[in-house]
Amino acid sequence: MANLNSKNLKLAIQKEGRLTDETLEFLRKSGLEFESYKQRLFSSCRNFPLEILYVRNDDIPDYVASGTVDLGIVGQNILNEERPKVKKLLNLRYGFCSLIIAVPKESEIKDIQGLKNKTIATSYPESTRKFFLGNNIPVEVVSISGSVEITPALGVAQAIVDLTSTGSTLALNDLRALTKVYDSEAVLIANEQTLVNGKKDLLSKLLTRFKGVLSAKDYKYVMMNAPKSVLPKLKKITPGLKSPTISPLAKEGWISVQTVIKEDVFWETIERLKQVGASEIIVLPIEKMII
Ligand code: AMP
Repeated sequence: MANLNSKNLKLAIQKEGRLTDETLEFLRKSGLEFESYKQRLFSSCRNFPLEILYVRNDDIPDYVASGTVDLGIVGQNILNEERPKVKKLLNLRYGFCSLIIAVPKESEIKDIQGLKNKTIATSYPESTRKFFLGNNIPVEVVSISGSVEITPALGVAQAIVDLTSTGSTLALNDLRALTKVYDSEAVLIANEQTLVNGKKDLLSKLLTRFKGVLSAKDYKYVMMNAPKSVLPKLKKITPGLKSPTISPLAKEGWISVQTVIKEDVFWETIERLKQVGASEIIVLPIEKMII
């Protein structure tokens, strides 16, 4: 790493795996320009003092904790399991999955109480022990590094604790989920020193970009036409972030209104706007929103 600029921020991301594509997409949406090709070890951003290092997923928390890099993007599941000394800065809203407990479809076990004194195979032994201890259920935990889903068929365990997102691996292996241990998504983590040392300002600029991409997911930009007389009603329905932008239309007594609507109340808001007289409603996605 001799040729990395020590004044730049360093961010470790997964070299190859489930989080890689979405992480690269997220960084590019944040306006960062860099090359990325298969055999790369690191990329320097052209338009921001940031070096991106491509490393093994499981190594990211250690690199961040030791200060080898300032920042990392990993699944929350790795933090829950390893409890590294790092600071979580942001949930990134991709890489969603859940750590679940599953048993063979035909198993008589109906709930977690039925797992008392049973053997559980997992790549997440710490999370598993903590869960069963918390529920006062004694179990034997067997730590397996991969293909945990085949262990019940091999007779190694009566249940597994594993990550799932679509449930297809469970179905493929004739397994049935009993309960969820926790939900996970990609998160941005930082070295605790980076938050206080000379890179604090750079980090704050990078966070503005990241938060801009994340908050854009929460809103939609809406343009509509309406009779001027209904403006008070429109304003009430779409309080928006600030007040809406209003321009007169060539048609006498009509206005064009531009505003933002929160994603979680989007369709009900559109219905209410139509009811009070808004028409020609145009919806645009927001790429970034810097507030
Ligand atoms: P990989 O090393 O490619 O298996 O990626 C593992 C990371 O992707 C995990 O640490 C999770 O944060 C995330 N992930 C998202 N969905 C899943 C899934 N269905 N199974 C395993 N990992 C997942």
